[in-house]
Amino acid sequence: MQPLLSISEASKSFGAIRAVRDVSLSVNEGEILGIAGPNGSGKSTFFNIITKTPFGPDSGRVVLGGRDVSRLRSHEIARLGLARTFQRESVFASLSAIDNVLVAVENSAGHGKFAANLETAEWALDLAGFPANMHNTAAGTMPVFLRKLIMIASALALRPKVLLLDEPASSLTPHEVARIQVLILKLKSLGMTILLIEHVLPLLTSVSDGLAVLDYGTLVAYGRPDEVIADPRVIEAYLGKKYEPLAS
Ligand code: ADP
Ligand code: MG
Repeated sequence: MQPLLSISEASKSFGAIRAVRDVSLSVNEGEILGIAGPNGSGKSTFFNIITKTPFGPDSGRVVLGGRDVSRLRSHEIARLGLARTFQRESVFASLSAIDNVLVAVENSAGHGKFAANLETAEWALDLAGFPANMHNTAAGTMPVFLRKLIMIASALALRPKVLLLDEPASSLTPHEVARIQVLILKLKSLGMTILLIEHVLPLLTSVSDGLAVLDYGTLVAYGRPDEVIADPRVIEAYLGKKYEPLAS
């Protein structure tokens, strides 16, 4: 089977810092690829260069659905089905939940019919599990969990083939992390393909079909999550903490 998304030998430097070095990864349709690694190991930069938001790679190739998208611009890549969230929630604080998602829809779809855009935005908030009675509440007044759901809904509203989630569980309580886990598995059950960057290792290993570990911009381990996570070198050297299964 041809992977739905494959990245070949992607690199990105910032001056002397080689943030991503010759990283090649791929994900099959309907699967979840987890990406782990210490702070500063290049995980977010990897998402940036795949989506060209805000910048592309210095070198490397990105193929989506058999099509080389390396030369396309960020909005064209998004339109072909690649949508991402950011590590820091990037919601408009003064806008309501529904208006935040509407902005994303209007930016991607151009200026279609308002009623259709609104329907898409409501569908996306519902899919993300956002409370139905808070669509009109200003995002800035909400706790971090709900702001994260708005950001995820804004990506879902683009009806992506591949969803890139950058640390969706950071700053959340264990109960909220469990809800993110349920959401990710729901999206997978709907056939969505997901790249998941996460520090919360039990979450990462519980949902991922494959797991990649970055360190200093280099891919140091890549394979089945149980195998990668069982490698003492990975646990000690690259993750810095012991693996404990998620309490159920
Ligand atoms: P991670 O997401 O794994 O924590 P990042 O991809 O954010 O790591 O960062 C990888 C490295 O690249 C770090 O050393 C970081 O300081 C550097 N870096 C990331 N973005 C920029 C940028 N826009 N300008 C300069 N350096 C950057
Ligand atoms: Mg990051």
